Amino acid sequence: MAESLRERLARIQERVERAAERSGRRAQDITLIAVSKTFDADIVQVAADAGVRDFGENRVQEAAGKVPRVRGDNLRWHLIGHLQSNKARTAVATFDFIHTIDNGNLVDRLNRIAGELGRRLPVLAQVDLAGESTKSGVDEKDLPGVLETFERAGSLDLLGFMTMPPFFDEPEQARGYFRRLRELMETINRCRTPEKRLRELSMGMSHDFEVAIEEGATMVRIGTAIFGSRPTTRNN
Ligand SMILES: *Cc1c(COP(=O)(O)O)cnc(C)c1O
Repeated sequence: MAESLRERLARIQERVERAAERSGRRAQDITLIAVSKTFDADIVQVAADAGVRDFGENRVQEAAGKVPRVRGDNLRWHLIGHLQSNKARTAVATFDFIHTIDNGNLVDRLNRIAGELGRRLPVLAQVDLAGESTKSGVDEKDLPGVLETFERAGSLDLLGFMTMPPFFDEPEQARGYFRRLRELMETINRCRTPEKRLRELSMGMSHDFEVAIEEGATMVRIGTAIFGSRPTTRNN
């Protein structure tokens, strides 16, 4: 019989724990985000009932329809896909956490909307370490400018960085990217007061999350290893 979602989830949780131990941390310091994109609310509900609290979606419209249909205490919804500015308002209304801020205009816009709704919104800046123009994310050289825009964004809490390395067959090949993101955060933190220090690193997916945790990930985004493979008809 095929492995159930609960069984897959339990195995992933164990692997997260072991990778956390290897990096001298505790499993509870690492947030497991179950990436539920393309899966219907009833399947997501199975994961919520099994104890998953954090879900990741990459499309604002899809999530807006799904979020109200999943029940559970203290669920948190993370936007992990590219955010177009015309979807910013729906995104703020739908998500608890946004991982994919990649330009200063988006900072200003999200800040204004969150302010209007009387919310403080935790966010990450997405960094493009691969320098692939096809990928979204801030180029490392543009990061200081984008970080500056956060200084005037009182309704946004910038907590750290997210990255998505190029796909490698061998997870070890992604290690350098994960390490680079941690070092970038450490460098930036040297000039920050303790209360403004960045602390979240969203990195690692189904096939490379253990390497990411070893390099300091505090949030891992895991889809297929929990939910099974996604329909291939969509470009996800
Ligand atoms: C789809 C997606 C994931 C999850 O990928 P899996 O390989 O299914 O674990 C993680 N991060 C982002 C940004 C994604 O779009």
